[in-house]
Amino acid sequence: MELIVSTFGCITDALRKQYTPVANGDGSIVYVFTGSPKHYACPYCFAKETLHVLKFRRVGSGYFECPGCRACFPIKPGHKEGLTMGTTIA
Ligand SMILES: [Zn+2]
Repeated sequence: MELIVSTFGCITDALRKQYTPVANGDGSIVYVFTGSPKHYACPYCFAKETLHVLKFRRVGSGYFECPGCRACFPIKPGHKEGLTMGTTIA
């Protein structure tokens, strides 16, 4: 069991500390995992203490979609956190 990051689950205090909120170009906020592998978490589901990892959808300049609430986030390439667009998050 090397996989410590689940793509869905309840957010514990320990887990919450590993995410940091970052602003997108449009002013919305997503949570970025500070460990590895890097990924984004849905802020709406995060607020409800449920973890949903955003899935990359190659639409336009780049969108991530939450599989839980279907919110879309226009996360731009060259993000300051250094996430590579196109990274597949299973
Ligand atoms: Zn969500």
